[in-house]
Amino acid sequence: VTEILGGKELSASIRSQVAAAAEELRSEGTVPTVVIVVVTDDEGTLSYVRSLVRAAASTGIEAEVVSLPAEASEAEVVAALTKAAGDPRVHGILLQTPLPGGMSTAEVALHIPPAKDVDGANPLSLGLLTAGLPSFAPATAVAVMELLAHHSIRLAGRSVAVVGRSTVVGKPLAQLLLAANATVTICHSKTSELDEVTSSADVVIAAAGSPHLIGEDHVSDTAVVIDVGTNVDADGKLLGDVDGDAIEGIAAARSPVPGGVGPVTTGVLLRHVVEAAQRSGTFARNGQ
Ligand code: NAP
Repeated sequence: VTEILGGKELSASIRSQVAAAAEELRSEGTVPTVVIVVVTDDEGTLSYVRSLVRAAASTGIEAEVVSLPAEASEAEVVAALTKAAGDPRVHGILLQTPLPGGMSTAEVALHIPPAKDVDGANPLSLGLLTAGLPSFAPATAVAVMELLAHHSIRLAGRSVAVVGRSTVVGKPLAQLLLAANATVTICHSKTSELDEVTSSADVVIAAAGSPHLIGEDHVSDTAVVIDVGTNVDADGKLLGDVDGDAIEGIAAARSPVPGGVGPVTTGVLLRHVVEAAQRSGTFARNGQ
């Protein structure tokens, strides 16, 4: 049988650590605060943001939502980010995507200072990560690493195939895996013989946004498969990039969707906010 690598228990433990850290910060007079900039009228996105605000509140983090309409100009979005960047009360800034058509997330995110860039959206954060310097990596990429560590999946010296090369997931994740001494292959839509590449890997991480892309032909019988995909089908059902039924009994282990990487991502994001607040406290005490 294929072992299921769930993320709920890990998420709960991260959140309780975050709550303890937030309480300590509050007792020192610092309220860990994140500003979430949202530029949409899409109800699905707005409801996700509300759930994030509730998750933040439950761990003692203050989340302020700056909600701009879908017709907002790039200058207005940049102004909202610049205001939060200059506000010493604000420790973390989250730019909710997708942005309206025509706006480049990478260019807009250049206005989030790396010290407050809790979801690693600024291309400079990816550069710092790649250079091995302190930075925040995107929460989803970190969540994959945490999930692997939680389930004691060894990475050093092993081969990992990452399917997807976006700046939000695939590229930063490849850097984190490399830093953990894995041998990393990054696949994308132009990769030929994807099934051959992935079935020769010890660990397969699917982050393509393509429902049930990874099936029985894509995995070996010793493979550990992590599913980052969150795709909604016509009936509103959440589907991963991995066909769990197809690889059942073939792969050694797999993370489920829902209940795998997703819940861990929220925990990591909140942890990044308290980490940013802890660092700003150090700066204040040192008079910097
Ligand atoms: P994205 O920007 O659309 O990037 C998708 C990547 O996958 C691209 O590099 C693309 O290749 C590649 N790809 C697409 N179809 C492929 C195929 N058939 N074969 C091989 N490669 C393929 O998506 P993203 O933002 O990285 O997100 C990826 C998935 O993760 C989505 O389902 C998203 O919803 C999910 N996600 C989950 C979380 C979470 O917390 N669980 C967070 C963020 C994202 P090209 O570069 O050649 O186009």
